[in-house]
Amino acid sequence: MQLTNRSKQVSNKEMTLMERAYLPAIATGLAITLKHFFAKKVTIQYPEVKRYLGPVFRGRHILKRDEDGRERCTACGLCAVACPAEAIQIVAAEREKGEEKLYREEKYAAVYEVNMLRCIFCGLCEEACPKQAVYLRHDEFIPVFADRDQVIWGKDLLVEDMNNRYTRETWTKEEAYELNAKRANGEVTNVVPRAIP
Ligand code: SF4
Ligand code: SF4
Repeated sequence: MQLTNRSKQVSNKEMTLMERAYLPAIATGLAITLKHFFAKKVTIQYPEVKRYLGPVFRGRHILKRDEDGRERCTACGLCAVACPAEAIQIVAAEREKGEEKLYREEKYAAVYEVNMLRCIFCGLCEEACPKQAVYLRHDEFIPVFADRDQVIWGKDLLVEDMNNRYTRETWTKEEAYELNAKRANGEVTNVVPRAIP
């Protein structure tokens, strides 16, 4: 019974002189090598060169500030509830008089920690946040851990630096898909990234 049609008839035909010298086979092999030598490379010199990951790539977390530098997070805990990996720990505190420039709302996160070993970078925390306070950066990975102490990321690593604000071309998934579609059609070539207002 024949199961596939991949079987080949073997020929016992005597090889010619050229075939016995393997010259055509060697020439064919060299031609293939030369073709690939001059072809455009599909690999890059990572980590020196990094590819653009796309507007909806989910990398390291960031806790956003508003345009006045105040922390947007109000410690409502919705991100922690939404997190399927139970990776987020929050301790809420009440804003004191005189702290209006630090925290936007009357309640803020005194402690906000993400366990990066538990996190699966699903982005559900970002989607759950009603204050547009937590985002997963589209342009940065979590660095490789050398020690277990480096696994819990607190506010010192998460809160946005106002001197180096995180900017994006788009801030919602819908915007990102629309922009990608426009790019594909050649309607948009250059978009200036902006900080979230
Ligand atoms: S990205 Fe997903 S797993 Fe990671 S902290 Fe947010 S909700 Fe949790
Ligand atoms: S990051 Fe957003 S969802 Fe999470 S506690 Fe702060 S305001 Fe609430």
